[in-house]
Amino acid sequence: MNGSLSLHQVLEQAVNKHPSKEALFDGFERKSYRTLYEESLRLASSLSQLGVTKGDRVMVCLPNWNETVVIYFSLAMLGAVLVPCNPRSSREEFIYILENSQASTVFLSDCFTHTELFKHYVKGQYNYVTLERIIMVRGHNKSFYLFEELVEKEDSKETLNVKIDPDKDLFAILYTSGTTDKPKGVMLTHKNAIYTANVTAEAMECNSKDVFLVSVPLFHVFGLIPSMITATIISAKMVLQEKFQAREALNLIEQEQVTVHHGVPTMFILELNDPMLESFDLSTLRTGIVAAAPCPEEVVRKIRTLMGCNIIVSYGLTETSAGVTATSLYDDDLLRSATVGKPLPGTEVKIVDLFRNEVLRGVTGELAVRSFGVMKGYFHLPETIMRIDEEGWLYTGDLAKMDDHDYITIIGRQEEMIIRGGYNISPEEVENVLYKHSSILEVAVIGMEDSKLGEMICAVIKLKPDRVEDEYSLKNYMEGKLVNYKIPDQLVFLEDLPKTASGKINKMELMVELTKQLKEW
Ligand code: ATP
Repeated sequence: MNGSLSLHQVLEQAVNKHPSKEALFDGFERKSYRTLYEESLRLASSLSQLGVTKGDRVMVCLPNWNETVVIYFSLAMLGAVLVPCNPRSSREEFIYILENSQASTVFLSDCFTHTELFKHYVKGQYNYVTLERIIMVRGHNKSFYLFEELVEKEDSKETLNVKIDPDKDLFAILYTSGTTDKPKGVMLTHKNAIYTANVTAEAMECNSKDVFLVSVPLFHVFGLIPSMITATIISAKMVLQEKFQAREALNLIEQEQVTVHHGVPTMFILELNDPMLESFDLSTLRTGIVAAAPCPEEVVRKIRTLMGCNIIVSYGLTETSAGVTATSLYDDDLLRSATVGKPLPGTEVKIVDLFRNEVLRGVTGELAVRSFGVMKGYFHLPETIMRIDEEGWLYTGDLAKMDDHDYITIIGRQEEMIIRGGYNISPEEVENVLYKHSSILEVAVIGMEDSKLGEMICAVIKLKPDRVEDEYSLKNYMEGKLVNYKIPDQLVFLEDLPKTASGKINKMELMVELTKQLKEW
């Protein structure tokens, strides 16, 4: 375990062991570990000369490109704090993160609209008081610093003198995608990230021969830690996909002989439903992680049988640097598809009641975690005090139960539980039944306000192409599979379900949209 290293040292180890091994391919260019290291070092040096120092927040608003990885490592070398941001985020989200993180520097690209915001950037002219400089990647606008020029400059010894305390120094502030609330800046140290990346590598039994498909965005914890940092720790190759598309992902698996495929459930659902699935040679696929949202049992089974991928189901949060629990490569079908596995090595989990007392095995309660992966807190938010207790337990807000062998089943987010006429209903249980229906591609079950029942159950459904179903046929299908009070009161059919930046179904947006529509009716 290399838990006391900094990320600079992790990359150094990779380059010392496998200098000429391919580290990155983004469909545009290939880079070896040596090139990745040298470019990161040169960029770190240039940034230092421009005045970026240890502790400065640096916002990086880029997709999964090779340059993004170079920038991330250069910041780690400098001790600057990476603040990743979705390049397709709205202007409001972008400005919120810029202001909340008090970034001194922003990396942008011409391809994304936020560039408009700074088109005529003049230092000091903007309200973002801390913003000192903007650096443009894959762009030629001379009013900004250009990445390509900075990365070409010779390195200096000054950069190498930065002392990092992996346990204390922040590596990144990750803004949660705000599925349930306004984005919160999760502060993660070098040690937080390296610990989780290590245990993830061990769970998947990875080595330097592995090839990771990185379709999950690098600005999300899943793309950053269990993908980018795990791959670097074992000197594996990363195949970066700029924006997830199922057909292209399948093509990349075949073309680049991918062995490790991570994804949120919707990514696998789209791949499994691609009519060309069988024409791709996916025989190199060995394993990967499905996480970040509930994965229907049926989908987990199909990833194994139809894609031949010995997938691991994992549960985690941005606040824990990702992985908290995971199934094992050797679990049987039932354990793997119905649970999120056991706590990862070095991770403690307990299930507690409303008063934070531990409940008995098999009883549902809130899941609490204590591990080296748990964040230092939220940036500029005092509410951390409520979420992490003085003994270091992080209370996740997720309902779960643990069996006698430590296997954990996630029931759902506390705040997404539906209380209909006094009965508690887990949206996940209803979704699992609907996902088994052969016409359904995607489904989200949410609670909507109701004057008689308190809340009613609403299932929002996207059908597979060319399938015809109606409320009557689907309710008929659920009869006998769910007790009566769990059968959705209302079924809504949509062409597309809104997604968060990481690709999860955005239930908050759905609720807002449906409430608006109901009012209009
Ligand atoms: P916010 O926390 O602001 O709502 P978010 O959804 O983007 O934003 P993340 O850190 O990406 O936050 O997601 C963590 C949450 O995702 C967990 O708390 C849990 O509810 C859910 N989750 C993660 N993995 C799983 C899983 N395997 N099964 C079920 N739910 C999961």
